[in-house]
Amino acid sequence: MAQFDYVIVGAGPAGCVLANRLSADPRVDVLLVEAGDRDIDPRIASPWMLAEVVGDPSVAWQYPIRPFGPAQQVEHWVRGKMLGGSSAVNGVVYNRGGRADYDALERLGNPGWGWDTMLPAFKAIEDHELGASPVRGAGGPLHVSTVDGSGPLLEDVLGAGTRLGLRRARDLNEADEERIGYAMATVRDGERVSAAQAFLHPVMDRPNLTVAVNTVVDRVELEGGRAAGVVGRGFEARAGREVILATGAIATPKILQLSGIGPADTLRSAGVDVVVDSPNVGARLREHRVFLMQFRLAEDLGHNKLLGTEAGQEAARRQYQATRQGPLATPQCEIVGFLKTRPELDRPDAQIQIGQFSLRALEPGKAHLMEREPGMLCLGFILRPDSEGGLHVTSPDPDAPLDIDANYFATEHDRTTAVDLFRSIRRLFATEPLAGRIEHETLPGSEVQADQEIIDAGLAMGACGYHAIATCAMGPGDDDVVDPRLRVRGVEDLRVVDASVLPIMVAGNLSGPVSALAWRAADFIVDGS
Ligand SMILES: Cc1cc2nc3c(=O)[nH]c(=O)nc-3n(C[C@H](O)[C@H](O)[C@H](O)COP(=O)(O)OP(=O)(O)OC[C@H]3O[C@@H](n4cnc5c(N)ncnc54)[C@H](O)[C@@H]3O)c2cc1C
Repeated sequence: MAQFDYVIVGAGPAGCVLANRLSADPRVDVLLVEAGDRDIDPRIASPWMLAEVVGDPSVAWQYPIRPFGPAQQVEHWVRGKMLGGSSAVNGVVYNRGGRADYDALERLGNPGWGWDTMLPAFKAIEDHELGASPVRGAGGPLHVSTVDGSGPLLEDVLGAGTRLGLRRARDLNEADEERIGYAMATVRDGERVSAAQAFLHPVMDRPNLTVAVNTVVDRVELEGGRAAGVVGRGFEARAGREVILATGAIATPKILQLSGIGPADTLRSAGVDVVVDSPNVGARLREHRVFLMQFRLAEDLGHNKLLGTEAGQEAARRQYQATRQGPLATPQCEIVGFLKTRPELDRPDAQIQIGQFSLRALEPGKAHLMEREPGMLCLGFILRPDSEGGLHVTSPDPDAPLDIDANYFATEHDRTTAVDLFRSIRRLFATEPLAGRIEHETLPGSEVQADQEIIDAGLAMGACGYHAIATCAMGPGDDDVVDPRLRVRGVEDLRVVDASVLPIMVAGNLSGPVSALAWRAADFIVDGS
């Protein structure tokens, strides 16, 4: 059976960073195991998050969650399934969160995760187009660019934002204040820079790094209280030093539970033998509920004119393939803003992302198409939701569906903040010079006014944020799944390094923070701590 020092499972941002860092020592053998294929699908080069890719089970996991909301709708949580993980299919927006987010991790009892140690990790991974500065890195593996936004529509969004008091920022990550600007994106010369491209491909030829693709891990092999290796169908590998799970906030608790590490009662009901009773494996799940608001434009501006027809989409594809330019060379949301839903707050508590296109109503089983009429889209989510859901296995069969409870908008804090955010977005679109461009709101529509109607609209017509965290959260307590060095409690030589270890949201999108988190975790692993 194959034997390595480290077995890393999952090649998303966390797994790619770990493979890079741990294999830098030629004396150690590293295996990176990924359920999906190599990242050779030509569709993923485009930074535009293609619905056909996100909905394709051969390149993206589709996890159905429990029905929710007034219409008891079913939604699928998507995750990338190939080298690069979700960073190979995501929306490429790059945000880090700020000092307060990481210092809050330390305050929760996790030494070593504060801003003074995380900022150097971010600077180490970044190759920022705006160059090195006290708060930015240049020359690192991960290229970050600013959207080359232009045109009257986007400028008018920025104009309205600044009128409402948001500072227009070139580098949206520079300060944790109310701000708006063109998105920062993991894009170089019109192409997506996934974590695989940034961290894995440059080191793939190291003789001490083995990458196994199309290999699904079902469980961790436990022997004498330690993680001895991993097991899948027709596959086994042993780890002399450590097994590191980096399969993301949905698959990692699933693998732990299937290995007998989880809440005892839940495991027993699912027919899984209990090895370690760890009550919070799969619990404490936090996910953003995103408002999806759309507006009809008074003039034929924006991308719908081209992307609203199949012929136009084909033309955009050809333009992209030939030149790496056009709408498919940009992130869907070209503008990002951070705002306070109440003026007395000391920092922003909500994020908006705006694109110059709008979507047709989703038809079950079909890709999300653009509208033909001109439109704009605004996504809005509160930055620090405290509603907690959870997920658990329902059977020892790894192919059986998980029971995932999103539990969106469960707390008064989340509902109140979300309603305030929704009204702030309406205010932005009613402010000149943007207001002059808008004919009317099409989604959810002006009839939605009362607080409960707003919440119901967010549940019925919104989307998940693709930012699930905390299902194996770090912390100092005996019931925290991993300790502040990300070691799984109750088992030797087993770590979790991915989005699941974050106990609280950091303010922004997650791909960058998870990469920096794994960079930091590699410090602990290399130090032997
Ligand atoms: C559609 C979408 C849009 C997003 N948009 C943005 C954005 O614009 N900006 C941003 O910063 N973030 C965005 N995110 C979030 C970001 O991409 C994720 O938070 C980040 O990739 C999480 O990294 P991870 O390493 O924890 O897990 P993942 O990226 O999910 O990687 C986990 C890897 O593990 C593999 N795996 C899972 N199960 C197994 C198994 N049993 N055996 C072997 N391998 C397995 C998976 O195939 C995958 O490759 C988006 C996510 C999605 C899904």
